[in-house]
Amino acid sequence: MVFISPHKFLENRDGTLYIDGVSVVELTDKFDTPLYVLSENRIRENFRNLRDALLKHYDKIRIYYSAKANTSLAVLRILRDEGAYLDAVSPGEVFLALKAGFQPEKILFTGTSVRNDELDFLVRTNVVINIDSISQLKRLIKIHVPEILSVRVNPEIGAGHHEHVITAGRNSKFGICEADVAKAYEIAKEAGVKRFGIHMHIGSGILSVEPFILAAEKLLEIAHHVRRSLGIKFEFMDFGGGLGVPYRLGEKPLNLEEYSERMLGLFRSKIREYDLGEPFFCVEPGRYIVCDAGILLTRVNTIKITPFKKFIGVDAGFNLLVRPVMYGAYHHIIVANRLNQPEEEVYDVAGPLCESGDILARDRPFPGVYEGDLLAILNAGAYGFVMSSQYNSRPRCAEILVKDGRYSLIRERESLEDLLRGQRLPEWLEH
Ligand SMILES: *Cc1c(COP(=O)(O)O)cnc(C)c1O
Repeated sequence: MVFISPHKFLENRDGTLYIDGVSVVELTDKFDTPLYVLSENRIRENFRNLRDALLKHYDKIRIYYSAKANTSLAVLRILRDEGAYLDAVSPGEVFLALKAGFQPEKILFTGTSVRNDELDFLVRTNVVINIDSISQLKRLIKIHVPEILSVRVNPEIGAGHHEHVITAGRNSKFGICEADVAKAYEIAKEAGVKRFGIHMHIGSGILSVEPFILAAEKLLEIAHHVRRSLGIKFEFMDFGGGLGVPYRLGEKPLNLEEYSERMLGLFRSKIREYDLGEPFFCVEPGRYIVCDAGILLTRVNTIKITPFKKFIGVDAGFNLLVRPVMYGAYHHIIVANRLNQPEEEVYDVAGPLCESGDILARDRPFPGVYEGDLLAILNAGAYGFVMSSQYNSRPRCAEILVKDGRYSLIRERESLEDLLRGQRLPEWLEH
């Protein structure tokens, strides 16, 4: 039994990929392809590794799972059972988190360009709101003055694996800039808000500790200023998500021990120096928790050899996994039924969409690949299914959860009928 390093829950048994003790060949025989598969054990392990690393350095910690990485109900339920808090960015995510059993006070809503009726919904559901603009704050307190409120600060330091995922800095649409932060707390305090949090989220897919530290120093300074000028004590300080995961073999993972030690070292010394009391130290990882727990299985239906290229044609495209096309992201792909065969050819992996950009991988070494083979696209648990679409009128695929040799369908494959859902013809076209 050989592990597919570094993913210990992915095993090579006689050339076939097993996930959490389940053969992917058996899964796809039963549920067809394309198919998302998630390992429950790996999700729990990622959560616990992070929790334990943080707890070594400070007692009052909270992990808000950032639901947008993967909102499958089963995933939310697993993380609720682990004791996670939840970061929601839309009313839909709040709705799903409540359905999964999260208590409203454990849900932090961080939206941007939030409508009044959405604020109304948040107030009614009683979740904690993290304000993204003074406009949002003013509109909120007209509807209802919450007991507790947080402010998303733009620390003007951003980072991330792609321009599109950097969520702080001078050009960012997110958060409130330093110059206006105290004003936001003042408005909230005068309106009668009693308890406060402070928040930032600088970007996604960050593999080095340095950007987190620079931004955290800034957030702590800003908190200090608010504390001094308004006398506000923070119940929690949220340093955001963005903890990266290696996608390429051999890429160095984020050093969790270094992250925890340096972030909490800084936090502990600054809360003392700045008289900030003992707030909860919060992080908001999405990708870190679920990314490597998921794979996307896709069947080879076409081998096309042109004078210029060799293409592997598969049944999943950017309708199901948009990251390669949207961010130029690398996903490692293996031939799940030929794990023991040496790489001998270079191929592009092409999806079924009528779009020349629908390529999941370029110039990758593979063993000889044949029609009917099964490819596993790794690290597909975050920003995979959640970003899927029905583009080209392709129904979305099914999703399976596996655990210790057991498996369960957690999302049905859509049917052709689902393509019609909600559509109707105007009466003048009905004939
Ligand atoms: C997306 C997002 C996160 C999580 O980002 P990851 O890179 O998946 O950890 C955390 N907080 C907020 C506000 C977000 O929008």
